[in-house]
Amino acid sequence: MNKNIKDLTGNNYGKLTVIGFAYSDKGKTYWNCYCDCDKDEPQEKRKVCVKLGKYLQDGSTSSCGCKRREHAKEISQHSNKKPRTNKPYYSQLRNIWGTLINRCHNPKYKGYKYYGAKGIFVCNEWRDNFEAFYDWAIKHSYTSGLEINRLDQSRNYMPDNCEWMPKGVSSANTCNNILMKIGNKEQSLAAWSRDPECEVCYSTIRERYHKGIKGIALIKKKKPFKDSIYTYKRKTQTFKEWSMELNISIITLRNRFKRGYKGNKLFSHN
Ligand SMILES: [Zn+2]
Repeated sequence: MNKNIKDLTGNNYGKLTVIGFAYSDKGKTYWNCYCDCDKDEPQEKRKVCVKLGKYLQDGSTSSCGCKRREHAKEISQHSNKKPRTNKPYYSQLRNIWGTLINRCHNPKYKGYKYYGAKGIFVCNEWRDNFEAFYDWAIKHSYTSGLEINRLDQSRNYMPDNCEWMPKGVSSANTCNNILMKIGNKEQSLAAWSRDPECEVCYSTIRERYHKGIKGIALIKKKKPFKDSIYTYKRKTQTFKEWSMELNISIITLRNRFKRGYKGNKLFSHN
């Protein structure tokens, strides 16, 4: 910790108690805090939250977020909105999230030496906001029994570096290490997902790979039917152009094409 930084350790701000310096970034100082809401838990189970010093001192942060959640719960009880706790996997993901924060940002946590101590952190977006982590998890097909894996073990816990995989599967067996040649370039699927040529996210690539899709189709967005090209009577153009030229609706063409019709049968007028 820089000598110019005023040490807030031990101070109380609302329900928060500062337990130590977390890090500073762009002149801002962040602090590890305990919140009173889990003060009855054994210490190793207590959640550490990271708060901006400025907000602690000016009073705009006074809890881990539990005050806001309680308030939201009160509101939802008085309205028809379903409480957040009915969301699928909510408490499981909450525990996973808590573990990530602890292993990366709580020096007292047993796994800290493998993560935080080695400079592996949880990105700001997830650290400050469980909902952001939750939304990412659900969008990326979280179900029970999966654990979070970092694609690049030297990078942080952050949306574009994480995936869900079955517990106990060594990361050596993941698509992280599957090499794929597309054009003249050969690299891992994870590296392809970060390639400027890639138009889809890693989980899409992985899903396609497991369906047996190879090559350029792995990394490009699927074209809408109307923009895909078709050759008929030695002429090649998009289905939209065929539709206009032959005056057959695009929906009719798409339905016929899906049924496997070709050539004259595809373009007939009855
Ligand atoms: Zn709290």
